[in-house]
Amino acid sequence: MRIKDKVVLITGSGSGIGKETALLFAREGGKLVVADVNDKAGEETAEEIRKNGGDAFFAHLDVSNREQVKQVVKDTISKYGRIDVLINNAGIIQDALVVKMTEEQWDRVININLKGPFNCIQGVVEQMITQGSGVIINISSVVALYGNVGQTNYAATKSGLIGITKTLGKELGRKGIRVNAVAPGFIYTPMTASIPEKILDLMKEKTPLKRLGKPEDVANTLLFLSSDEASFINGAVISVDGGLIM
Ligand code: NAP
Repeated sequence: MRIKDKVVLITGSGSGIGKETALLFAREGGKLVVADVNDKAGEETAEEIRKNGGDAFFAHLDVSNREQVKQVVKDTISKYGRIDVLINNAGIIQDALVVKMTEEQWDRVININLKGPFNCIQGVVEQMITQGSGVIINISSVVALYGNVGQTNYAATKSGLIGITKTLGKELGRKGIRVNAVAPGFIYTPMTASIPEKILDLMKEKTPLKRLGKPEDVANTLLFLSSDEASFINGAVISVDGGLIM
């Protein structure tokens, strides 16, 4: 087991990449905090883990709400006594061309995708410093490195997460905390389900491996980065995109 007894908090783990990651980490011995704004989806993930013999609890969490973050961290420490891994996975899209993007669309995406990870990092960091160890992984995107029409807000948040990753890689490294980012390409999840098949085919064509990603492609990378096998990887941005960006 590659992360036996490590306590892992994954935001947005009721669905898609976060859910697949929670299920994989539980199979590898982790104790999972399934945190999601979607209660039904989050409860289902935690229940699936427990049914398969794993250890998990669901915590309602809107990452943009600092009080809720504090509560989830408190509940995690009172149940498991520590926090070893934080995966800032929760994210949304609210696409529009820049001429049409509303202030609400801009603010909502910034609040959830960028301020949310900041809130969660501040929530866990003191505990990790006290422990003298920890792993933080921010889910960025190929869009941070490549841009994408209609995603000014989303690209800003995903690029911002790379800046946070590099800054905290420097700031927290000396405390025994590793901070990395993963930049997935186009992955089949509920988030991409609304993208027209024509566009997805185009992305497939542009990808040297000639396929889109699966949630487990990202989950496997997150498992490696969370494990002690990655103990000298810090401040890195790992692309999981089939070579779409080189
Ligand atoms: P997903 O299937 O939509 O899952 C995201 C989960 O996060 C959902 O359960 C969602 O709940 C929850 N969530 C939304 N707002 C939240 C909030 N404020 N607080 C806590 N949880 C919240 O998405 P995904 O495709 O797995 O994406 C996961 C991450 O990977 C995101 O950060 C995304 O930007 C990034 N990413 C995805 C792709 C891709 O191709 N799929 C590519 C690059 C990067 P609801 O269902 O209620 O909204």
